[in-house]
Formats: sequence, structure tokens, C-alpha cells
Amino acid sequence: MIDTLRLTAEEAMGLIERGEASAAELHSAYLDAIRERDGELHAYLRTVDEADGAGVPIAFKDVISSRGVETTAGSKILEGYVPVFDSTVATRCREAGLPLIGKTNMDEFAMGSSTENSAYGPTRNPWDPGRVPGGSSGGSAAAVAAGLAPWALGTDTGGSVKQPASLCGIVGLRPTYGTVSRYGIVAFASSLDQVGPMTKTVRDNALLYRIIAGRDPCDTTTVEPPQPVELPEREDLKGIRVGVPKELNEAEGIEPGVKEAADRTIELCRTLGAEVGETTLPRSVEYGLACYYLVAPAEASSNLSRYDGVRYGLRVEGENGVRSMYERTRDAGFGDEPKRRIMLGAYALSAGYYEAYYGQAQKVRTVIAQEHAAAFRSFDVLVSPTSPTVAFRLGEKAENPLAMYLSDVLTIPSNMAGLPGLSIPCGLSEGLPVGFQLIGPQFSENTLFHVGHALERAIGFDVVPGRLQ
Ligand code: GLN
Repeated sequence: MIDTLRLTAEEAMGLIERGEASAAELHSAYLDAIRERDGELHAYLRTVDEADGAGVPIAFKDVISSRGVETTAGSKILEGYVPVFDSTVATRCREAGLPLIGKTNMDEFAMGSSTENSAYGPTRNPWDPGRVPGGSSGGSAAAVAAGLAPWALGTDTGGSVKQPASLCGIVGLRPTYGTVSRYGIVAFASSLDQVGPMTKTVRDNALLYRIIAGRDPCDTTTVEPPQPVELPEREDLKGIRVGVPKELNEAEGIEPGVKEAADRTIELCRTLGAEVGETTLPRSVEYGLACYYLVAPAEASSNLSRYDGVRYGLRVEGENGVRSMYERTRDAGFGDEPKRRIMLGAYALSAGYYEAYYGQAQKVRTVIAQEHAAAFRSFDVLVSPTSPTVAFRLGEKAENPLAMYLSDVLTIPSNMAGLPGLSIPCGLSEGLPVGFQLIGPQFSENTLFHVGHALERAIGFDVVPGRLQ
């Protein structure tokens, strides 16, 4: 009997190695769990019946192209689109023998923080189905938390791996920009998008990052990580300098229960032998969100121009000529959030406004990178809560885009600087998981895994949602 709720990917690997379970048996155990629990949760948009590979099965966010399996990015405009090629991360998983279990639900084109922007209906949080799992990789987060996948891939542009990991009580890594290929990923904001592992443990996360990271000739923005990915073992933090950026820990809107859990974890860093000190990122936190909401929509407006009814998915015939076909297809195919971003982005890039908005945002981005670099002269990692709140109720922020955008106020600044960030569960507030964010300099994933693993061991968080135990 395979207990998918508790089994880590590393343990699943052990079962296979010792001949105690086959990949096909594991795959079908997860499909059984999906049949049992996904009616309520809706973490998956579709599943794959046959195990193709001899390793531990995996789920992909539906923004990751998988040959022969429909890929919609949560949008009606891509309904019926079946890629004829694999994304590089899919190829790497295939080469590592990981069979695909299915494609997970997400906010349309990865725009959102709750998975409510999916054109196919929301995903629910396994800890409390009245609440959101976070987003935009909410389907992958819910699947891992509910034992519907041993591990999964998501993508993170402004926080879409870290924030849902936080709200669902699992581990999520947003890697250093450029260490994981974007080839075959449905593009949102190309200078920010990164694929990241979502797992039950930090060690699982390192195992999966090792599989997907590396230079890819098909994506010229990729580089090989300078050091091989190490599996974390050490359980102390001696010699690690932990910086606590004031603004990320005292930001308005951080719930008291979230602050308490994060503060306890900072104390724990001290107990484990780290040197802990205060630091500051004033402009990154003040301007990060505004800067992101110029850069990301600008890039999105350009990336989404390819959906015109000619090449992929949906087509709505026009009355007279191709132009009205474009208009009708885009009107029917995009939901409200992509439309809002396309308009914002096209405006920010338009002649006369370009310098004032997009040009200015690029300069602010440089300032944010410099501010982080200055903090890393004194510290190895920076820490804060991942999300200012625990999982919120379905519908609570759906009608208020600005409130929704604030979900990422703590994850966006380091993303703008291209830096890696790891979210680990650090406790509960009101019975719901709280995430702790560790940010490092470029290519510091091994340090993040070491610190995350040591904290994980000391915290002893049970990743199985209380109501499913
Ligand atoms: N919630 C943010 C947004 O809506 C971040 C999304 C993401 O990281 N893909 O843009």
C-alpha cells in the first residue's frame, strides 16, 4: 500500500531502487489518489493514463509544453492546443525517467495569485477547500500538498512558485534567473519567468532542481550553474550570516500570526548557530511591486500578441477579413486579467510614454539589483515571510486586482533582481501554513538548500494537511 499523502519523492526513489514498487505502480497509486480527492480540489486539468518512464512520476503546471499532451496555460485561447514538441524541462524529466502524471491548473497565463483566474475554474486549498491554494502555480502546490503528486514543476515570474508553496505548506524554489531553460514554456514576462520545483521536502527540491537546471542551446539566456547541485545534509547553520531586511519583515499587511511564525524561525536560525543581523532594502520594497507591474505587463503584451487565431488553439471566425477574426478570437479567448495586462503593457510601451514608464521601470530594476547586492556583502541569505497572509477565502480578492497584486509584495523585489528564493513551511497561523522565504545571491541554490534543510529538520513541520490525516 503506497501512502501518497506522506511519501516523499526521495522515498519513492528508494521504493523503486529496492524493487518494492515499480514506476507503473507508483503512477497508478497517484491516479487513484487523484480520483479520490481531485473532484473537490481540482488541482489537475488533465491526467496521463500510462506511466512513460521507470522513475518517480511528476506533475507539470499547464504552462509547460509536453509533446502530445494538451497544454492550455489555463486559457480558453489555447484550448485544444497539443504541442508537437517537449519543453526542455519536459525533455530533461523524460531523460531522467520521470513519467508525467498530468498537467496542473493555474491562473490564466500565470497571471494571478489564487488560481481563480483559470479559465477552467479554481483550485481549492487542501488545508481548507474554502480557501485558495495561492497562484499562479496553485494546481501544482495543491497536488503536492494533497498527495496527488510526489513532486511538481511550477513557474515563478513574480512569486508564482514561492507564494502557492507558502499557502499550501510545501517547499518551492524560484531558481536564479537563467539556470533553468524557458524553451517550451508558454511565455508571460520573459525577463522574469523561471521554472521551479515544488516538493514536500528541501532534499526533494534539490533532487528535482538538479534534473532541470543547466545550459540549454535552445534558450540563449541560460547558463550552467557554477557548482553542481548538492543534496543538503548538514543540520546546523554555523558560519551562515542571516540578514533580516526590515522592510520585508515589517511591511504593512503582514498578518500578526504570519509575523510570529517568521520571527520564531529567525530565532531558530540563531539557535542553529547562524549569525543574525538586521539589514535594509528600502527602495526594493517600496518600488518593487510598481516596477513589476510595468515590466511584466509590457513583456506580456508583446508575448501574448502571438495568440491571434491563426497558429494555436481557438479561432472565432470574423465577418469581414482577418482583422475581425483576430479581434473576435482574442476577445473570446482571453479572460479579464490577460486583457488588463495587455492594455497596461501596450500603454506603457507606447510612443511618448515608453521612457516615462518602461524606461523608468528598467532603471528602478537596476537600483533594486544594486540594493540586494549591497545586502549580500554582509549576509549569505536574507529572510522574511513568503506571503503577507495565510491562504485567503475563495472570492475574497477576486474582484480587487490591487489587493490580489499585494500577495506578491514580499516575493517580487528579489525576483526583479534575478535572485533565487526558497519558501519552506515554518508553522501554522489560524490552522493554515505559513511560508518562510530565503533569498540568496545569484547561483546560491546550494546555500538555500542547506539553510532550508537545517530549518526544516528543526521545525519538524508536518506537510500533510490536518483534515487529510
Ligand atoms: N501574482 C503575480 C502576477 O500576477 C505573479 C505571477 C507569477 O509569478 N507568474 O503577475
